[in-house]
Amino acid sequence: MTGLTPQARKLLLNWYATAKRDLPWRRTRDPYRILVSEVMLQQTRVTTVLPYYKRFLAQYPAVEALAAAPEQEVLALWSGLGYYSRARNLQKAAQVIARRGTFPDTYEQIRGLPGVGDYTAAAVASICFGAPRAVLDGNVLRVMSRFLAERGDIKSKATRARIGAAAQRLLDPANPAGSNQALMELGATVCLPRNPLCDICPWSAFCEGRKQGLVRELPVTPGRRQTVQIQQTLLVVRRADKVLLRQRGAAERRMAGFWELPEHHEVPGATLGPSLGQFSHSITHHRYVIEVREANIGRRVAGMCWKPVAGLAHLPLSTIARKALRVASTF
Ligand code: SF4
Repeated sequence: MTGLTPQARKLLLNWYATAKRDLPWRRTRDPYRILVSEVMLQQTRVTTVLPYYKRFLAQYPAVEALAAAPEQEVLALWSGLGYYSRARNLQKAAQVIARRGTFPDTYEQIRGLPGVGDYTAAAVASICFGAPRAVLDGNVLRVMSRFLAERGDIKSKATRARIGAAAQRLLDPANPAGSNQALMELGATVCLPRNPLCDICPWSAFCEGRKQGLVRELPVTPGRRQTVQIQQTLLVVRRADKVLLRQRGAAERRMAGFWELPEHHEVPGATLGPSLGQFSHSITHHRYVIEVREANIGRRVAGMCWKPVAGLAHLPLSTIARKALRVASTF
């Protein structure tokens, strides 16, 4: 790899110059905007992020606006994007930056912001401030493990350290922003998880994994956890132009403060109406199969609120609640 580095680097950067997608966060070096995009893109596809990114920045065009916003409003704007601790941490980071008066400009200072890990700090520091820090995320681990024919388990510290060191050698110190983005782009558009497009890859002639016929076996990951299927029934209880919702408590481990549709067992005495449809939703290795039923209730249910249908778009709703309300044509 060491001998190949300058050539691999050049091929990658030349390819990126012509093949890169035109994405809104590639038209700016504003660290606040880059931070928002990097946080949104964690475990989320570009096509999903695009409308959220535009809406979020239209509402909070500067870090001070996000810092001062009510948390429920921030969560409502994030609603449907998942992994909601990202939104809370992003706002906490904005508050730290607003108090500080300037955006931190070194890797270490950016890494110290709430919710910012090694990957995000390296991305923001390299793209906005030219810091020579290679990024290492799932995409980069996959591409590099194939390129190097790395047979170690990519979840292990030792393998990650080897791949990280190789990515660092590959980084062009004169253009760390371009180098990092090029490698991520290669993973996102060419060296795909299931069907890598080796024939159009700038590295096809040098890729060790390809030469050794190992592409389909790499990266090596430990056995996947078995999917657990969970059956649920959610109720859509309407009264005039309102719908019955339950808010998750502040102490709940996941998605505190978010609004949900009630499950059948949470509304004792509910009279079930017709089924409105079914959908499935996966969270890590859990696959929820959810039936949405219309229902009526005769009396008040403790801990639940009637919320106007017209205001649902401004509430932080869980993704499952949004999908269920769509099935019921209420959202
Ligand atoms: S040649 Fe194929 S496996 Fe190797 S880096 Fe390119 S796309 Fe990935």
